Amino acid sequence: MGAEKDNMSRIPQELLENPEIAALADEAEKRIFGSGDLDELERARIWLLGRKGVVTILLSEVRGLPPEVRPQAGRLRNLLKKTVEGWLELRRSELEKAALHAGLEGEFHDLTLPGRYIPRGREHLVTRTIKEIEDIFVGLGYEIAEGPEVELEYYNFTALNTPEDHPSRSLTDTLYVAGPDGRVGDVLLRCHTSPVQVRVMESRRPPLFVISPGKAYRRDVPDASHSPMFHQVEGFAVDEDITFADLKGTLESFCRIMFGEDRRVRFRPHFFPFTEPSAEVDVSCIICGGEGCRLCKSTGWLEILGCGMIDPNVFGYVGYDPEEFSGFAFGMGVERIAMLKYRIPDIRMLFENDLRFMRQF
Ligand SMILES: [Zn+2]
Repeated sequence: MGAEKDNMSRIPQELLENPEIAALADEAEKRIFGSGDLDELERARIWLLGRKGVVTILLSEVRGLPPEVRPQAGRLRNLLKKTVEGWLELRRSELEKAALHAGLEGEFHDLTLPGRYIPRGREHLVTRTIKEIEDIFVGLGYEIAEGPEVELEYYNFTALNTPEDHPSRSLTDTLYVAGPDGRVGDVLLRCHTSPVQVRVMESRRPPLFVISPGKAYRRDVPDASHSPMFHQVEGFAVDEDITFADLKGTLESFCRIMFGEDRRVRFRPHFFPFTEPSAEVDVSCIICGGEGCRLCKSTGWLEILGCGMIDPNVFGYVGYDPEEFSGFAFGMGVERIAMLKYRIPDIRMLFENDLRFMRQF
């Protein structure tokens, strides 16, 4: 039995406006909805989204495009990916249903039996926020990299240009891991996901456009805005001729997609060991829009991330010539972004796993 084919195209209007994307979407639709069984559907999925899939390649090409067309091209290609993923899901359930019906024919079924209740799960708000952030940066041509949570002091501090006597290295700020002899050495729980930057740069050459989401740990006593374990998304871009203007453009795009088109964004000078110059980024308050309220402590602004141009010393540790390459880096706390976006007053609510709270999102 074949699936019913709508007369209307399933391809979103926005994709139809780009002839190349529209042709690909059309072919994808034919292959997906033309699949007669799950094997054939899997082949269509690999053709589209596998490591060398046509959509995968299109997305990876975004970062090579000129900066002025990158956000739009990224969004469009990401929409294509989402569309195709939705179709694959839909066709899969159609085929599974058809297979089930085929198996049921000729058997006797008591349709008066009561159904069984299957509780539905959902994504944790932190997971969802990470995915939202990832989607935005993937749309801008970034790739995602992960690294170890138990990290060497070298990657967590030294190669990120953190001085030997910097307070963040102390036992009161960072959680070190004791060795077999019970003594503390150079192994610790990473206090940010920036070590992934160093690990990626160490093993590859620019151009690099990478974000690293994950858990980070600090020796904080839990309160409304602190948790000893939290999530971060850090990102960096390294290529020839990357400037502060690229950093600004990238983060402004991010803020508007994440918090709304009408958000204003400002950069304030700040200090981080691994970037120079460094800045903190604020968005205009999502509640009062800048008038001043309790959330923004009457300032009209909300601090959401830190960033800067990668310090040439960091390039020294990974063997890049700072005359040849430049780059920027940024980092944000996922819980803070989720708390601001969904107006959650206490970070601990995200980790108590009270279903009455979690079900609201
Ligand atoms: Zn406000």
